[in-house]
Amino acid sequence: MTRVSLTGAKAGVVPCDACGLLSRPAGPPVPGNCPRCGEAMAFRRRDPIQRTWALIIAAAICYLPANFLPVMTTTTLKSVRPDTIIGGVVRLYESGSWVLALIVLVASVMIPLVKLTALSYLLITVQLRSNRKRRERARLLRMLKAIGRWSMLDVFVATVVVALVQLRPFMSVVPESGVMFFTAVVILTIFAANTFDPRLIWDSGGETRGEDD
Ligand SMILES: [Zn+2]
Repeated sequence: MTRVSLTGAKAGVVPCDACGLLSRPAGPPVPGNCPRCGEAMAFRRRDPIQRTWALIIAAAICYLPANFLPVMTTTTLKSVRPDTIIGGVVRLYESGSWVLALIVLVASVMIPLVKLTALSYLLITVQLRSNRKRRERARLLRMLKAIGRWSMLDVFVATVVVALVQLRPFMSVVPESGVMFFTAVVILTIFAANTFDPRLIWDSGGETRGEDD
């Protein structure tokens, strides 16, 4: 069976971002507002590539202080010790909690780096109008969006660790500026993955499966 693929833009219809209604705008260059809910409609979001790049670059800039500035200071009777994320990972490992150390290492150091690299790869291939491995790239984008939900996992781990430490007498843990940068990285990469429009991947032409790769 042969399927004929049809895009909304070709058919002259535009979906509403807010309520999902498909409608045919009266004057195609300016889609106007949704007839059902009144939301302003657009065939595409404005400047999706530039917006995603801006978010990725901002996240990459925050990634450095997030990893090199201390995220917490532990005060005991004997010492005051600031710790970076990597320092915290080493300490967790030394104290025998290698599972927690691994979770923090993967969630705080590796996942943000993987997300930034993968999003840059998606943007560069779109800008080069590559039509290779488009299904794989679409799947990669879905994975990145799914990972976003788990990005704050290690913040919960850190909260638990801090709570356990606070239970000991004469010891305290306070958050430091690195945490702010770390949170910024997480939020910016989630926004970047959501700003990236998956339709960009298919703009390079060829509507059906099998004619690329
Ligand atoms: Zn609507």
